[in-house]
Parts: sequence; structure tokens; C-alpha cells
Amino acid sequence: MFRSIQMPLAARKKTSILPERSLPVSAVYDPGCRRCPRLANFLDAVKAEHPTYFCRPVPPFGPLGAALTIVGLAPGLHGANASGRPFTGDYAGVLLFETLHAYGFASAPTTTGPDDGLALIDCRITNAVKCLPPDNKPLPSEIRECNAYLAADLAALPDGGAILALGRVAHDAALRALHVKPAGFRFAHAAAHPLGRGIALFDSYHCSRYNTNTRRLTTAMFRAVFDAIADHLGAAGTRNAARAA
Ligand code: SF4
Repeated sequence: MFRSIQMPLAARKKTSILPERSLPVSAVYDPGCRRCPRLANFLDAVKAEHPTYFCRPVPPFGPLGAALTIVGLAPGLHGANASGRPFTGDYAGVLLFETLHAYGFASAPTTTGPDDGLALIDCRITNAVKCLPPDNKPLPSEIRECNAYLAADLAALPDGGAILALGRVAHDAALRALHVKPAGFRFAHAAAHPLGRGIALFDSYHCSRYNTNTRRLTTAMFRAVFDAIADHLGAAGTRNAARAA
């Protein structure tokens, strides 16, 4: 059962806890960023071992200012870090793109590579950390360092928009990027957090291989989250509600 705590749109607008739009929407991505020495050096080493891999900060995918922004953790070694596109080549992308297509957010249900022509529709995917971390574990300092890019990205979210955080790290990074104190906004799968200006933050367990193989996250659970997102965007008038096929 989805634990929605949404308020009527008018009420949400009056109780906004978000800052006024003051963040620039530029600087959402720097392909040459090496602000995190540990990650930059790790990427150099991975590039030496896998010369054909992308091995740079992975840029967000999809239009800036889309109704829905999905925030993941970080690129995977042989997935996004190799292809240069979020969740492309990652096992986690299987359920994600299939679901995005079912709800009208993607032009195709599967990806074959960064040149496969797949387009995101009113949807954008980014990561809390844009460089591949060793063992898939970024340090808190690296999450903080990369947060300026996420902040610039989320500043473009329209009123009535939605953020989907895949996992606790993404949830915390999204709140930090929006200058929202985490107290009262704890991560919980299927939670919805109204943030103001009609924007809501939705939580889901990450659609990783581990979580789907262990059935911590099932297709039905993931679709329930997208049902709530579709309802939110439809109620806010940000987007016509779309249902899974
Ligand atoms: S993780 Fe982010 S801040 Fe750190 S080097 Fe990569 S792009 Fe720069």
C-alpha cells in the first residue's frame, strides 16, 4: 500500500519549505570535473584497464526541467561508467527503463547502448554522485562535493514536479540539494514527501540487481511507486496521468 501523505495542491503551495528559485540552472554537469581526487584517480585506473569505457563524470540523461527527475546513486562499473549514460548497460536499468516505458516516460522499454535512440519523455535521470566510486560506495565528502550539480539540476524542476529517489543516499542528496532539513523526511520505500511548490519527493528501494533478485523490490512494488508519481503529476496538472500498460 502506498503511503501517500500528499496535500491538496493549493495547500502545498502555501506551505512551501523550498527556497525561492535562486539557483542557476547552468553547471549541472562538468565533463572534466576532478573535485574528488579519490574518484578521479580511480577513473584513471579503470580507464587504463578498460580503454573503451567512458570513465568520466556521467552526465544526466533527459531534458532539463522535466516533470520527473530520477536520482540514482552513482554509475556502475560496467554499466553507466562504460556507456556514459545513466542506467545504460547496468542491470538496474532493466526494470527502470521497462517501467519508464510503461508509464510513458521513455520511448522504448530496453536499452542497447548510448546510441540506441531511446528518448526520455518529460523525465530526466541523474545520479547523486556522477563518477564511479570504488565498490559502489561514495564517501560522504564525495556526495557533498557532487551535490552542487544535483542542486543546479533540481532547481529546474517545475512547480508540481516529482523527484524519485532510488535509495537512501539519493533521498538524502536530493534533500540536501533542495536545502531541505532531513528531519521529518525519513527515507522509506513508497513514501511521498511534499516539499512545497507542489513538488513531491518519492522514495523507492534502488532497482539494483541485488534488490530485485532478493525481491526486496518487486515489479509490482516499483509500479506502485510510479502509480503514485503519475497520480501526483496528474493532480498537479504537470502531466497527464499515465498508467502502466
Ligand atoms: S563525483 Fe561529482 S564532484 Fe566528484 S569528481 Fe565526479 S563530477 Fe566532480
